[in-house]
Amino acid sequence: MRAYTYLERGVFRMTQKPRPVLRAPRDAVVRVTLASICTSDVHIRNGAVPRAVPGITVGHEFVGVVEETGSAVTHVKKGDRVAVNVETYCGTCFFCRHGWVNNCSDPNGGWALGCRIDGGLAEYARIPFADTNLVPIPDGVTDEQALFTGDLLSTGYWAAKIAHIRKGDTVLLIGAGPTGYCTALCALLHSPARLIVCEIDPVRRAFFARRFPNAEVLPPEDALPLLARTPRGGADAVIEAAGSAESFRLAWQGARPNANVVLVAMYETPQILPLPDMYGKNLTFKTGGVDGCDCSAVMRLIAEGRLDATPLITHTFSFSDIERAFSLFAQKKDGVMKVAVRMDEDIP
Ligand SMILES: [Zn+2]
Ligand SMILES: [Zn+2]
Repeated sequence: MRAYTYLERGVFRMTQKPRPVLRAPRDAVVRVTLASICTSDVHIRNGAVPRAVPGITVGHEFVGVVEETGSAVTHVKKGDRVAVNVETYCGTCFFCRHGWVNNCSDPNGGWALGCRIDGGLAEYARIPFADTNLVPIPDGVTDEQALFTGDLLSTGYWAAKIAHIRKGDTVLLIGAGPTGYCTALCALLHSPARLIVCEIDPVRRAFFARRFPNAEVLPPEDALPLLARTPRGGADAVIEAAGSAESFRLAWQGARPNANVVLVAMYETPQILPLPDMYGKNLTFKTGGVDGCDCSAVMRLIAEGRLDATPLITHTFSFSDIERAFSLFAQKKDGVMKVAVRMDEDIP
């Protein structure tokens, strides 16, 4: 089968590999139907993810059809359409029992797919712990609607949850890329009074503002004066999804005293917490790495029409065009937000 493979630092290439087989009773093999490319894949290609293993098939955001299940799998069966969780977690270790599945202690646990074990930018993928990591897609939900269940929407859902947004709150969201978009969708489920969104890129601001007419979408430099005029002098909850030194600073400066500051972004350099400057503000910082164990809840919200991330799919390619899809996404060309890659058909 064809598999898009991380060969060495800087090089991804389409390769031929044998079709994956079941290796453990809790495994399933999924025929991939639709996949996406994530910024983490770009980080892998750039050599910025040291735990990524050369030779692995990349891709951790995909949906498909169950082809084969191990003897211990009970929740899904051959022929089921499923969304795949980015984190394949065992469900039984100390961390999983607390819902901290990102730190699942199983060797196949946490973010392994498309990083330490073969992922989903391939015709087939083996999924460990299929019962916890495959979520059936209801009949009325398309592959496109389900595509971001396991990664982006899980991240947004988790970020909004751990930010403890309450009805009537002012929420500051930094970064209006795909993660920011899904986080905004999930933050709104908690009925904040105001959603203030900062983004440096005017194209992304316009994209966001069109789809979230009630959000206040601003360049970052306009945020602090606006937040200073809010009744509590800052945001009740802050979610940082941009990942620069400036966005990190804005996250704590824009928070009101005693706020939760959730750092979802993947930083490429260490950040400085200037504790003397924030003394007395009594902030709570929460740091990222999604605990992606709410996929069933996310899928239910998609089916109910309450979460729709399909506008993020700005480009669709066939799998044979993966090189073009990857470079467009990595270089953020042509107004791209997310690409969808159809595995089973050619797109002219
Ligand atoms: Zn990802
Ligand atoms: Zn575990």
